[in-house]
Amino acid sequence: MKYYNRLPKEGVNTPQRHPLTEFLRLTVAAIVALLLFVLLLNSAGGRLGGLIPFRVELWVAQRLDDAFAQSGVESPFSSRASETELIRYLTQLGRQVEQALGMSAPMVVKLHYSDEDTFNAYATLGGHVTLYKGLLKELPHENALVMLMAHEYSHVQLRHTARGVGGGLAVAVGAALLPGGSGVEGRLYSISSLVSNLNFSRSMETEADQNALHAVHQIYGHVNGAADLFGLFVKFRGVDKDGKLDRFFSTHPLDAQRIGSISQSAMEQGWALEGSLTGLPADFQQWLNATR
Ligand SMILES: [Zn+2]
Repeated sequence: MKYYNRLPKEGVNTPQRHPLTEFLRLTVAAIVALLLFVLLLNSAGGRLGGLIPFRVELWVAQRLDDAFAQSGVESPFSSRASETELIRYLTQLGRQVEQALGMSAPMVVKLHYSDEDTFNAYATLGGHVTLYKGLLKELPHENALVMLMAHEYSHVQLRHTARGVGGGLAVAVGAALLPGGSGVEGRLYSISSLVSNLNFSRSMETEADQNALHAVHQIYGHVNGAADLFGLFVKFRGVDKDGKLDRFFSTHPLDAQRIGSISQSAMEQGWALEGSLTGLPADFQQWLNATR
């Protein structure tokens, strides 16, 4: 037997496809892989977050609050508002909501009020709920306020906040492993924006609506007025010329769907859709306009 070096065929290293097509194909594949990776991290982190006991969630929020206090970055866990009539009223109403939802220590809400003119409200880690003046001043009656509070409180009670932060943290850790990390200060800023812009899934929002409606019924004996909260969103979407509406809307189910599902679940539960509405305190607008 005789061995000899055979020359390879001409052009074996040249792909059959056009090089640009090949490049596009690889780019798309890389983007899809990255997206899948982020989705996977988000879902795994979310599941883990939901398994964490509420006491641990409280502890984490406290440690973060300490870190914010030391760094001078504004903390989403502390409010600057002093004890005013408005805060007293909201706190007392919040207690009624907690009772109606069956929430008890250690799972209680730390309610904050911000006098910023932002049309928003949010719940985050450790049972912290923030209500903004910009949204409160538009509320037509107490029933809508209770629906709003009960919705945010439900995110705490149903562990959506822990799941949301768990998912967000997993993605953040994944991103930090990539080159281009930032210092402690930068990290605190990103934590701050993570905890105050939690992205809840649509199913979480629907779940929170249903839970909140139960509280409205417990307190007033009917669910009239609850849907007016979503009516407000319709109105504000209409005037949002810059498209800068808060995250509050982007993940929430369509307003019309929400209003529809409220009537549907009220009928299923046998809850009255009609009933007299309770007004907000006479000085409510004045309280909102007073400086803190
Ligand atoms: Zn929500």
